[in-house]
Amino acid sequence: MNENFWSEVNRAAGQKITHCYQCGKCTAGCPVAFAMDYKPHQILRLLQLGRGEELLSSRALWVCSSCQTCTTRCPCHIDLARLIDALRFFSRQAFPQVTRHGMPLFNEVFLRSVKRYGRVYELGLTLQFNLKERKVWRDLDLGHFMLSRRKIRLLPEPVENRKEVAQIFSAEKEGAR
Ligand code: SF4
Ligand code: SF4
Repeated sequence: MNENFWSEVNRAAGQKITHCYQCGKCTAGCPVAFAMDYKPHQILRLLQLGRGEELLSSRALWVCSSCQTCTTRCPCHIDLARLIDALRFFSRQAFPQVTRHGMPLFNEVFLRSVKRYGRVYELGLTLQFNLKERKVWRDLDLGHFMLSRRKIRLLPEPVENRKEVAQIFSAEKEGAR
């Protein structure tokens, strides 16, 4: 990453990072800020200070649920959710070894399941995630309990019109080019 990193992120996300005056409304409304190593307003501050690289291996990027509460609340109309998306993109490039584990990996497996079935196939997702993390027996008791109570299904149940879901993924791929 070069020293103009923050401006690259700014350009990618189309946001005016310099407009943030650290009011903290984004963090106050964020439902997962408690689990972040850098809170939403701190993400903005680090970018303003040109220290965006510190964010690329941070947990905050992958904890963010893209709920857009921060975006809605920001008095400066900064789309923080979109900014975090851009940072995830750079993070995958800069730290592929990090993004193959934990939350980034879960995101990937989750999306693959939605792409294939039009909705999440919980059992398949769990097995695939555990396999990739090399923790095959993780949550075995819980899985058994949920299957026995029919909280999750043994086989996938695809949605009727999977074509529409596939179109969303194709449009997203086109947009990323
Ligand atoms: S709500 Fe907007 S202006 Fe306030 S700290 Fe967050 S990003 Fe900055
Ligand atoms: S989009 Fe992410 S950072 Fe913003 S409020 Fe939601 S979880 Fe928090």
